[in-house]
Amino acid sequence: MLTFQQIASIVQGQVVQSAQPLPVIHLLTDSRKLSQPAGTLFFAIRGRYNDGHKYLEQLYAQGVRQLVVEQGEPGELKHLYPEANILLVENGLEALQKLAAWHRAQFSVPVIGITGSNGKTIVKEWLAQLLSPDEMVVKSPRSYNSQLGVPLSVWQLDQNHTYAIFEAGISQPGEMEKLQRIIQPTLGIFTNIGSAHDEGFTSHQQKAAEKLKLFKDVELLFYCADHALVHEAVQAQGIQAFTWSRTQPADVTITASTSVGHKTIIEYLYKHEKQRLAIPFTDEASVENALHCLSVLLYRHLPLSEIQDRLDRLHPVAMRLEMKEAINGCYLIDDTYNNDLAGLAIALDLLVNQPQRGRHTIILSDLLESGLPEEKLYKQVAELVEARGVERLLAIGEKISRYSSLFRVPAEFYRSTADFLAQFNPARFRDELILVKGARVFGFEKIVQAFQQKVHGTVLEVNLDALVHNLNYYRSKLAPDTKLMVMVKAFAYGSGSFEVANLLQFHRVDYLAVAYVDEGVTLREHGITLPIMVMNPSPDSFAKLRQYSLEPELYALEQLQAYMASLSGTALYKIHLKLDTGMHRLGFTADDFEALFALLRQHPQVQVVSAFSHLAGADEAVHNDFSQQQISKFRAMAAEVEEQLGYKVIKHILNSAGIVRFPEHQLDMVRLGIGIYGVEATGSEQEALRPVSMLKTTVSQVKHISRGETVGYSRKGVAEADKTIATIAIGYADGYDRRFSNGIGHVLLHGQRCPLIGNVCMDMCMVDVTGLQVKAGDEAIVFGPQLTLVELAKSIGTIPYELLTNVSARVKRVFYSE
Ligand SMILES: *Cc1c(COP(=O)(O)O)cnc(C)c1O
Repeated sequence: MLTFQQIASIVQGQVVQSAQPLPVIHLLTDSRKLSQPAGTLFFAIRGRYNDGHKYLEQLYAQGVRQLVVEQGEPGELKHLYPEANILLVENGLEALQKLAAWHRAQFSVPVIGITGSNGKTIVKEWLAQLLSPDEMVVKSPRSYNSQLGVPLSVWQLDQNHTYAIFEAGISQPGEMEKLQRIIQPTLGIFTNIGSAHDEGFTSHQQKAAEKLKLFKDVELLFYCADHALVHEAVQAQGIQAFTWSRTQPADVTITASTSVGHKTIIEYLYKHEKQRLAIPFTDEASVENALHCLSVLLYRHLPLSEIQDRLDRLHPVAMRLEMKEAINGCYLIDDTYNNDLAGLAIALDLLVNQPQRGRHTIILSDLLESGLPEEKLYKQVAELVEARGVERLLAIGEKISRYSSLFRVPAEFYRSTADFLAQFNPARFRDELILVKGARVFGFEKIVQAFQQKVHGTVLEVNLDALVHNLNYYRSKLAPDTKLMVMVKAFAYGSGSFEVANLLQFHRVDYLAVAYVDEGVTLREHGITLPIMVMNPSPDSFAKLRQYSLEPELYALEQLQAYMASLSGTALYKIHLKLDTGMHRLGFTADDFEALFALLRQHPQVQVVSAFSHLAGADEAVHNDFSQQQISKFRAMAAEVEEQLGYKVIKHILNSAGIVRFPEHQLDMVRLGIGIYGVEATGSEQEALRPVSMLKTTVSQVKHISRGETVGYSRKGVAEADKTIATIAIGYADGYDRRFSNGIGHVLLHGQRCPLIGNVCMDMCMVDVTGLQVKAGDEAIVFGPQLTLVELAKSIGTIPYELLTNVSARVKRVFYSE
């Protein structure tokens, strides 16, 4: 454990106050990302848009006790933060970088540094995936590649890792040297040079030379020799290289490349031997990215069959370009990631390469950060758009509009996104492929949303505003220092785990919980940094658990032993203890305690962050006595845990119903589940919550049948009179329960309740719409504000939890805020 004095000497700061010895586990620069105050060191950094010093008081109030500041008079700082360790430095960002560089130097594993104008993040993600069968890889989260992102990425390195992959991005001269000192790469990948962030540089040569500074000490640099600027710069510096090329002899010399279906077959010479591989992509950018990865795999002497096997499993990285179904048979390619010419070319390439037919439309904002004079820039844009066969351009922004005369494809110009939305008419888009590409400031998400709102077929609409409303409702019942854990297990109760988790992270809940390790990994891969508890970790997933900084719930002695046996090194490992107080599902009992504490004492690196139990009957008043007994038992057991361990743990027992029924027992934390999704489990305060999800489908066909005829399988639906029936596109495979068959269930059509007739089929079911003017294509609501989950669950003898989590994965989730 680093002491505060050591940190002070590493970052060369002045110790204003050293109040208490505390571990430094998290480095924090964004006050909104605070999760565990006790182990956090906060760096107050002054940025272009914000100043970390503004949040010191708030963080101190939240329990942060270690601060690095750039300003403040020592006496005053001590007065304001009497219990804090405080370091005064000249520059907070530099201090953070120094600490990260020091941390990096403690490890001797191979570290790949990646830079280049495009493809950094994808190459990083892919390589991590390709190497994961043999290595424990740590990598930069998303595109954490800046002066701030790199130190935070590198700080993740711990004893468990055998391999590291970090990306570095710069926008000005002088920056790469700093990143090099932090990453200290032993191997390098230089993807390419394009025009992103041109403004800071006088020439592309200068930019290439600057980027190359990342690789000054690498043993080997991987790159494509066809990028002349890169090639010349590398040769000039005499860096040891591993190259691939389509045009000249190289370590990997590509001799042929043909696309067949969705694949590209590559033939190449490697060590005088002809080899052949299939890359599961056809667009140029993906093939280039895959070839960088291939070079690394060849260098590692992987057998060809194994390489093929791993390449086959690559899939597009969603964070940059997202392909989405949209209104009227359209597809959207949503690319708001970068906004330069090279990025536009890549995105247009993808557009050209899509198998769908139909018109190609592009919605494009002003290009920022291109480094070109405006007229020249838009001339090039116009040429590019024309050359790639775009059939309609919808351009948004004052600058691009100014150069409207340069564009020869059919085009419309709008001054702003709001302007575009005001004139938006969905009927003008049909069966086309639409590339949406805008700089972040243009907020093109709103456009994407407009295209997605009316999705045909069966969709589960999730109202994010309602979710936040419910979150705040439960929060209002908590004492200010009670922590909040939100359960996002089972795909966030069916609502979409990553989207919900992202919102919760933004709204600063303290903890998330999932059932299985894979669910936690998915969240991490989508950039969720909140602490995550995993309730049912299996021994074969322990390594992965730590690789992704997930915290296990441990509930049995053998399981805890297995967990401890899997540990190596001296890092701090956080666990949560589940105590059985009467649910009799999972958990330690008092009988286990002696052995439990003996084990914990033998493994001081294992830190119990929390102890908790679960109420068996909080939703029903008849069980109040039993719940109270569980709570008292838990209090006693948890006290014993703390006494035996000699330190405090977070204690928690209340679920959603418990928060409503026993607010006086919220202890240190509560675990909110179904309530946030809009169902108040005790039933007494349902009015206070807003329904979050609405399941909708459409009418496929309308029929008129005569008295005595039957409907559906087994001829169960018998028409006792002449009837009009509608077939709707939802069945039990979508999670629509078969128990709703034959009049038990209803759906809403034109606001009217229509009973089911006949049995629910796999993909559809029939409803009685006699007397209504229903037609094919009409919307049917399966559940929502007017037809509640509570009511529906009751009608088939189940609980809302089951209906929500049953909505199958093939049902599209659409998220919206009002
Ligand atoms: C699912 C779960 C919760 C949340 O329960 P709700 O009734 O949905 O609030 C809390 N604790 C544990 C251990 C759970 O498994």
